[in-house]
Amino acid sequence: MATRVRLLEDHLVQQIAAGEVVERPASVVKEILENALDASSRAVSLEIVGSGKEAIRISDDGCGIHSEDVLLAIQRHSTSKITSFEDLQTLTSFGFRGEALPSIAAVSKLELTTRSESEPYGTSIQVHGGNVVSQKQCGRSQGTTIEVRDLFFNTPARLKFLKSDGTERSRILRAWEETLMAHPSVSFSFKSESKTISYPNRKNCLDRVRDVWGEQCSEENLVPLSFRHPSLSITGWISKPSFHQSAKSYQLIYINKRPILSRSLTHALYESYRDCLPVGRHPAAVLFLDVNPSEVDFNVHPSKREVRFRNESQIYDALIREIRSKRTSESSAPKVFVDAPILTQDHLRQNFDSPVMPDSTVFSSSFPRSAFISEKTLRSETLVRQPVKILSQFHSLYILAEEEGNLLIVDQHAAAERVLYEQFKQNIQNNRELPTQKLLIPMIWNVSLAQAELLQNHRPAFLKLGFQIEPFGETTFRVLESPAAVPETEIKNVLEEILSSLENQNQPTLAIEEKIMHAACRAAIKANDQLTHQELGQLLEELKSCQNPHTCPHGRPTTLTISRQELDKKFGRV
Ligand code: ADP
Ligand code: MG
Repeated sequence: MATRVRLLEDHLVQQIAAGEVVERPASVVKEILENALDASSRAVSLEIVGSGKEAIRISDDGCGIHSEDVLLAIQRHSTSKITSFEDLQTLTSFGFRGEALPSIAAVSKLELTTRSESEPYGTSIQVHGGNVVSQKQCGRSQGTTIEVRDLFFNTPARLKFLKSDGTERSRILRAWEETLMAHPSVSFSFKSESKTISYPNRKNCLDRVRDVWGEQCSEENLVPLSFRHPSLSITGWISKPSFHQSAKSYQLIYINKRPILSRSLTHALYESYRDCLPVGRHPAAVLFLDVNPSEVDFNVHPSKREVRFRNESQIYDALIREIRSKRTSESSAPKVFVDAPILTQDHLRQNFDSPVMPDSTVFSSSFPRSAFISEKTLRSETLVRQPVKILSQFHSLYILAEEEGNLLIVDQHAAAERVLYEQFKQNIQNNRELPTQKLLIPMIWNVSLAQAELLQNHRPAFLKLGFQIEPFGETTFRVLESPAAVPETEIKNVLEEILSSLENQNQPTLAIEEKIMHAACRAAIKANDQLTHQELGQLLEELKSCQNPHTCPHGRPTTLTISRQELDKKFGRV
């Protein structure tokens, strides 16, 4: 049967288009908040009923909409923010597509009340499912109030996709939080049946972070970022490694003040903390990246959550470098393990969780050094300090040692890995050649076509870390030299491990170097089980001089310390 082509009716087009912008109540909140900020508001209030689909009301004291423009503002593709495509290259407003208001109006009962600065009266209109049902003059102070009722009343299929009321409410709160964190100078309030929260306007971002995430977010636990370059600036706050969190929720990333979801930048954040966070813990961060608008494309998705960068890997590398240089390597040594109070979710504060490291004053830290301690103090400290005395080795795995009256239990592999990792790293940072070994007989290595391509691309990174590899046919390579630390028997395994972790991924240089280092370190310590007392002693001394002696590069602890007093207590001597 022949089908006929016909033009869709206007209101149907609107409803279909609305689906892209308005996914759930939180998207309504995000769009209307952004409009309020684009209007230079100083105070913005949000009120919701139920999960937000019942009602959302947002009022601002911004520039308002001129009465003659009110009808236009709810039509598709009408905006006051751009006039030409070129404007996108210099865009500083959130909006530009002219889609939010008409989309929201198409799938709800919307009332817009507004007054612009130049007019003595306000205008109010009501739009139901895209149809204007009333328009009148009214009194109002300068600014705009938008009330959205019965969201998706005319698109029941959409309603079915909504999650529980609690989930929808928490998404609204997240959207609100993302917005207000980036605008400390604007005051925000939130009201629902059960909750009222308000944040006053603040001079700087840290004050706002503290208001929202809790008192612990002070300079004691967070460090500022301040990378400025003509094409990229990175500012914001990141947690010190000791202030690690049990949840990922304390991470916000903005590009030009827009909250974004970016796997690659989140990856960069974790990569920056990789060698100093305990397993399963998360950094906290509020990151503001500012790039030239022409370098980034927000016009990928109607909700603008996804972005495309012209130079993603440079931004990735710069972010890692900036965070690493600021985060300080000071991390807390695990102090206790016997009968330690374990903090559970219930104990954690509602806002920012405290680090789960149990605390007890009877235990002294094995390496009480932090990056803040000056060189001089360090040296005098070493002078009076007694050397570590090796007592024994347990299961060829743990070193038992005595230091300053404390019993140390050191995970030998974790310690060796930390030592090697820092040696690798220092050599790379100082552009020093890494100690390498020439292979007596070059190792022939066959790989797949795709792997050969990958290897070819990353040869400089391999070389930098001591692997001299040259092509020897289309899918065959010869390994001529390898890092001295890696035993010859392990070379092939290491290379294969690195290659498989690089596969199918377009990873920036720093991440690749990290992968190579980690694999090399792991291989190096495998052959390191049976050490003499002297070698064990040397290992512990080397560990002590590491920047971050407390954890292995993957965040496992290297050392546990038990004080004499604690043992006495356990044995009932005190
Ligand atoms: P966009 O934000 O992409 O321009 P919207 O549909 O969100 O599109 O809004 C359309 C227009 O309505 C805006 O360009 C702006 O001029 C006006 N507008 C919307 N909300 C407000 C507000 N809170 N204050 C002042 N003007 C507003
Ligand atoms: Mg808008």
